[in-house]
Amino acid sequence: MTNITKYLLNIALDVPLDRLFSYYCDQKLALGTRVLVSFGRKTIAGFVWDNEVTDISINPQKIKAILEVFPEVLAPDTYELINFTAKYYHYPLGQVVFGAIPKEWRQAQNIKELRQSKPKPHHEDMAVILNDEQQNVVNKVTENLDKYYPSILFGVTGSGKTEVYLSLIEKVINQDKQVLVLVPEINLTPQLLERFLGRFPSVGIHVLTSHVTSRERLRGYLGATDGSIKIIIGTRLSVFTPFKSLGLIIVDEEHDHSFKQQESLRYHARDLAIYRASKHSIPIILGSATPSLETLYNYKLEKYKLFKLSNRAVTGSILPDIRLIDLNIYKTNDGLTDIAIDEIAKRLEKKELSLVFINRRGYAPSITCYQCGYVFTCSNCSTNLVYHSNTRELKCHHCGLSCSTPKVCTACHSQHLQALGQGTQKIEEVLAKKFVDAKIYRIDQDVLNSKSAWSELYTKIKAGEIDIIVGTQILVKGHDFHNLTLVVGLNIDSSLYSYDFRASELLFTQLTQVSGRAGRGGKKGLVLLQTNYPKHELYQYLLKHDFSGFINYTMKDRRLLKLPPYTYYAMLRASGGQLSAVLEFLNTVWDGASNIKNKNVLISSPVPAIMQRLKNRERAQMLISSQDRTELHKFISNLMVIVSLIKKPASDISYQIDIDPFEM
Ligand code: ADP
Ligand code: ZN
Ligand code: ZN
Repeated sequence: MTNITKYLLNIALDVPLDRLFSYYCDQKLALGTRVLVSFGRKTIAGFVWDNEVTDISINPQKIKAILEVFPEVLAPDTYELINFTAKYYHYPLGQVVFGAIPKEWRQAQNIKELRQSKPKPHHEDMAVILNDEQQNVVNKVTENLDKYYPSILFGVTGSGKTEVYLSLIEKVINQDKQVLVLVPEINLTPQLLERFLGRFPSVGIHVLTSHVTSRERLRGYLGATDGSIKIIIGTRLSVFTPFKSLGLIIVDEEHDHSFKQQESLRYHARDLAIYRASKHSIPIILGSATPSLETLYNYKLEKYKLFKLSNRAVTGSILPDIRLIDLNIYKTNDGLTDIAIDEIAKRLEKKELSLVFINRRGYAPSITCYQCGYVFTCSNCSTNLVYHSNTRELKCHHCGLSCSTPKVCTACHSQHLQALGQGTQKIEEVLAKKFVDAKIYRIDQDVLNSKSAWSELYTKIKAGEIDIIVGTQILVKGHDFHNLTLVVGLNIDSSLYSYDFRASELLFTQLTQVSGRAGRGGKKGLVLLQTNYPKHELYQYLLKHDFSGFINYTMKDRRLLKLPPYTYYAMLRASGGQLSAVLEFLNTVWDGASNIKNKNVLISSPVPAIMQRLKNRERAQMLISSQDRTELHKFISNLMVIVSLIKKPASDISYQIDIDPFEM
């Protein structure tokens, strides 16, 4: 057998194993080069990840050759970001690579030439004259364009944050640099895009959301790489976009939970964006009317700067009055109090718009038997089935299961079934009965499945064809509704005493945002919140529009209880067909962990997840925490080795570590 001299390269592949795979090649290839290799019986794409080992003797019978070298190469900064991501989230590197790149690059074939698309000509909007507070932010950030300069832009809705972004973007692209704007999916409205296009009509702007085609995504990816695209506006995945010369990152609505991916690679796009800005030595702006506690904590630690925009930018636009309706005193009829009904009636008379906010879609959140109390639940998940009146179906909002509405009780065969509680469809129906002539528009996830729902809504509002909007949290953000003077919040209390320590922060944020919808057009707005707990601190701060007060109060709580951001969390999640086996697995991990135990790291004993059954799998979890982030990561690295060696009590058990988890 003759040995021949070749280059040995380690390749990242899309397999759930936390390692690289060796192949050889006649030539040395750059890091990040896309290649074709055979793996098992398949031929798949891979990326050169490690090319240090060169020119050694290789036995071609043991190590296979690279089959083809493609022209694509991952940009060095993306390569680096992917390395960091895999390490920080303790996730197989190959899977991070393949999650971060366009679909075409994942496939085992050559990529067809892309035709250049012309940016369509667009009318030009004039810049506004910034007020002092806005100008101050622009000045400070502009002075620091060549540094890592993280700052929070804290301003109520309508205070002019977007104008600050636009002004800074202009400075950055005038220096021939590029900008990444991260936004939550539902905030990327046609209105926002119009504003960007209007201000930069002759600059390459590309949108990357889950709705764009894979070709469009590829076009954006390549355009950012070669510098022809100056502005990428995108949702969380676009944090991995390679740029030729990135000059600024903006994270709008930085508090939004959609920046954290809740499955497979559970990364947080805002946190990766911070890392990226520090690596590139560029400014990053975290904009929000309600910054997250994590972010404000970093300000407290003097890691971030803080800029406030204290007033609404348009004169005559003032914060609405917020009033609580005490449900211990005022009774509801089908979910609504007379006070709320009266205020809606007044708006109808004045031809003003009302918004009824209820965070539950469907008609009724549960169907129960009047005789025996049986509740219809999902067979795949530990949750109630929701009744949808338009399709006459029971649906699970977690796994998508749907069935036609049963006529009799499963347990006692009684025909006395009742729909309990209210969802958007029910409220829509109740209002339609009360206000026969009113034009009512419902907007929730069910409606938004049709792509034109938003533009239809805007067109109708503009034409004065809508009197009342009923909707979920989908409509609390980003949207500017002309002539909206009343917001009614229903069923808001459920988050007050939740097992999830972030629930009250989220509620406060949502209520602040939804209140911010009212009174934007120069008319004073009114917000009515129906609650059983009018004395609760959260509502007291809300009434005063005192976000800082609420944050201080919550921070104190978190510090006392040793919760994030004062403690770092990681969650080991496991699931399988049988809960007992899943728990047995985690208990074995727990035992194994005692060998590597570290006094700085706490491990709680395994428990079933709050939503124990999801999509037909039983779930359990184990919380790991530490005051010291480095110690926590060291511990988890060791723990993951131990976990991988444990013999699973059942073959269908899978597990995953979730760093900085959101889901408790
Ligand atoms: P935010 O992003 O904080 O919600 P926007 O930037 O969208 O706020 O501003 C709200 C409205 O006020 C927009 O219509 C915007 O054009 C306008 N606006 C913002 N800043 C100014 C300013 N300095 N002068 C006049 N109008 C402004
Ligand atoms: Zn289900
Ligand atoms: Zn029954």
